[in-house]
Amino acid sequence: MEKKSLFFFFLIILFFSCKVEEPFIVEDMSITESKLKATLINFPENIQNKILSDNTNFLNSIKPLLKNSSDLFLFCDKQNYTFPQNYRAKDLVYLKDYKDFSINRNNLQISKVAIPSLLEMVKSAKKDNTNILISSAFRSYEYQYKIFYRDVKKDGFEEAKKWIAFPGTSQHQLGTSIDFGSIEPEYEFTKAGKWLLENASKFGWSLSFPKDEESLTGYSYECWHFRYITKEGCKLQKEYFSNYQYYFLKYMSENYYLLKASIMD
Ligand SMILES: [Zn+2]
Repeated sequence: MEKKSLFFFFLIILFFSCKVEEPFIVEDMSITESKLKATLINFPENIQNKILSDNTNFLNSIKPLLKNSSDLFLFCDKQNYTFPQNYRAKDLVYLKDYKDFSINRNNLQISKVAIPSLLEMVKSAKKDNTNILISSAFRSYEYQYKIFYRDVKKDGFEEAKKWIAFPGTSQHQLGTSIDFGSIEPEYEFTKAGKWLLENASKFGWSLSFPKDEESLTGYSYECWHFRYITKEGCKLQKEYFSNYQYYFLKYMSENYYLLKASIMD
């Protein structure tokens, strides 16, 4: 009897020592299928399915993005997510210092990281005889606070909330978002507006508040407002997130550090 129980004891030991560990999806990231699944629980089913069915390519495409600062993918929305209170945009530079930009005010600033792609974009538009006017760029928390409460005073809190981002939730606070042209719905039908809608993503600029996404983003369609998320980011957004900037940035914001820490040298 004692021998028999010893035999079972060894059998159990053998079973656990032989238990196959779940393999990593790609060899240089410690991400298993179940770990990847866990990063996706808050996302629509079609996005989950797309990513899980193409998991190797997905991880290989997301890896280069993690070389960028997490600030580029910081998520905010009108309802639930605000920036950390002490968030400050990095490396702001004046657009007036670059001769290629067409600007409507001399004090416009954006983060330096977005300059090369913006230059490439306006130069490319110029080749198509299209002038891209930059009308609004970085806005500080304090400035956003000022314009928000100016409207609250005029129209009341609920009405102001419909049109202006609450301080701490505006993409303009990041220094990587720009309003182009007239900042009006009609811009969509102008030569420059059409050019941007068709081409901006090729340069890493993603339309933040598209048509028919009001219920998701909380913003009406803004054909003039683009955010720099890198060229690779725009590709990933299109390929794996049904072209929703909202879901792409939400995913990046929630999982950036986990994915980055999983990279093995
Ligand atoms: Zn804007």
